[in-house]
Amino acid sequence: MPLLFPLFLLLPGHSPAVTDMEAGAATPAPVALAAQDALSVLRSTGLSGLDAFEFLGKILACGPRLAGSDNAARAVVVTRSIMETLGLENVHVEEVTVTLWERGHTDVRIVGLDSGDIGLAAAALGGSIGTPGDGITAEVVQVMSLDEARSLGEKGRGRIVFFNRPMPPDVLDTFDAYGKSADQRAHGAAAAAASGATAVLVRSMTLRTSDLPHTGIMQYDEGVPPIPAAGLSTAAADRLAALLQERGTVRVHMELGCRTVGPVKTHNVVGDVRGREKPDEIVVVGGHLDSWDLGPGAHDDGAGCAQSLEALRLIKALPVAPRRTVRAVMFMDEESGGTGGKAYVADPLRKTETHVAAIESDRGGFLPLGFTVLADEPALQAFNRWLPALSHLGVTFIRKGYGGVDIHPLSTTGCITIGLYPDSQRYFDVHHCAADTLDTVNERELELGAIQMAGLAWLLAEEGVPR
Ligand SMILES: [Zn+2]
Repeated sequence: MPLLFPLFLLLPGHSPAVTDMEAGAATPAPVALAAQDALSVLRSTGLSGLDAFEFLGKILACGPRLAGSDNAARAVVVTRSIMETLGLENVHVEEVTVTLWERGHTDVRIVGLDSGDIGLAAAALGGSIGTPGDGITAEVVQVMSLDEARSLGEKGRGRIVFFNRPMPPDVLDTFDAYGKSADQRAHGAAAAAASGATAVLVRSMTLRTSDLPHTGIMQYDEGVPPIPAAGLSTAAADRLAALLQERGTVRVHMELGCRTVGPVKTHNVVGDVRGREKPDEIVVVGGHLDSWDLGPGAHDDGAGCAQSLEALRLIKALPVAPRRTVRAVMFMDEESGGTGGKAYVADPLRKTETHVAAIESDRGGFLPLGFTVLADEPALQAFNRWLPALSHLGVTFIRKGYGGVDIHPLSTTGCITIGLYPDSQRYFDVHHCAADTLDTVNERELELGAIQMAGLAWLLAEEGVPR
C-alpha cells in the first residue's frame, strides 16, 4: 500500500523529537511529526495486513517445541526462512546447548476403591525424574504450602504429597496470582522430599476448573533426594481433595516415564533491520521459540516470536531505517532454564555490539495494554513522555516491572529491558497446557502487540533511551 506521509520527514539527519513535542511545545516542529507519522504508518500497515497471525501459524505448524526437540529445530528453520523472506539483514542462528527432557507415558490413578480406580488427569512437571518401572503407590497427604510440606516430618515419609493451594481468585492481575502459587510447582518436590516423601502431585496453576493438566519447570535442591513430580488438572485436584475429605485415607498409583536425555545443540535465530547511523547499537525485540510439549504454545510463546517478526516487517516497510539497528531474536529454551537468553549475551558476536534496549513479549498474544520497564523512577518518567504518542497504538501505561526471562541477562550489560503487557485474564486458561492453540488467538489483538513493540522499538532506535 502507498505510504501516507512525505519521505522528507524521515530523512537521515532529522531528529524526530516526540519527547520535546510531548513535553508540551506549543507548535510542534515539523520533524516532531515524523515520529507520529512513523507510528501511524506502523499501525495502519500492521492492522491492514495482520501478518503476525500468519507467522504464528507457520511456527505452530512445527508442533509443540520442547527445547532440543526436532520440532524446535524445525521452528528454527521456519523462523529463519521468514526473516530471509522479509529481507532482514544479518539473518543467522547462534548455538545454544540445552538439556533435552522427555515426557514418556503418564498414568496417575486413585486406587484401592471398591468402585474401581479413578484416573486423574496429570502431566509430569518439566525436569522431573520418572518413577520406577512399576510405578509408585502410596497414601496421599494434602498440603497447602512449602512450609507445611517441610514440617510434615514422619507424616510425609513414604507418602505422595499433594500441593493443592489454588491460584488466589481475588487477585486482579493473574500474573500476580500465578506468582503467589507457582512456588509449589517449582519447589514442591524438594520441600516434600525433605520430609521423606516419595513423590508429589501439584494442582495446576490456572483459575479455570478444567481437566487439562498444566506442566512447567520444577527443580531439585542439592542434598535432597529427587522425587517424581506431576501436575494435576484442577478438576482432578478437586476430585482428589474431595475424596480425601470424605475418606481420610486415599492411595494413588503414579507412573511417569519422563527422563532427562542430556545436552543437545540447538539455536537462537537472529535478524536485523540495520540502523542507518549507529548500526552497532541494537534494540532487540524478542520472544521464545520453545514451548512445553503438551500443546503448540500459541500464546507461550509463539505469539511473542510472531509479534517480533512482524515488528521487524513493519519497521522495514518504513521508507527510512531508524538510526539504530532493530533486531528480532527468537530465543530458545526459556521454559527450562532461559539458556537461550544467557547464550545470546555470551556469544562472541556481542563484543562489537551495544544493546541499548530490549523488548520481550512473553505474556501471551492477548489485547496489549502497555509496557513494564525494569528501570528506576526517573527513567520511567522519561519513558512516559512517549506515552501520548504511543497511546495512538493502544498503549495505556508504561510502568515499572520485569522485562522478560530471555532478555534479562542483557540487563547486566546496561541494556534497558522492557516487557509487553497484555490483558492477563485468559492467559492461565491456556498456559503450559494442551489448550494453548491457534484458535485461542485473536488476529487483531496479536497484531496490536506487534505494532506496539514496533512503535516503542522504533522510538528507541531513532531517539535512544529517553533520559
Ligand atoms: Zn513463555
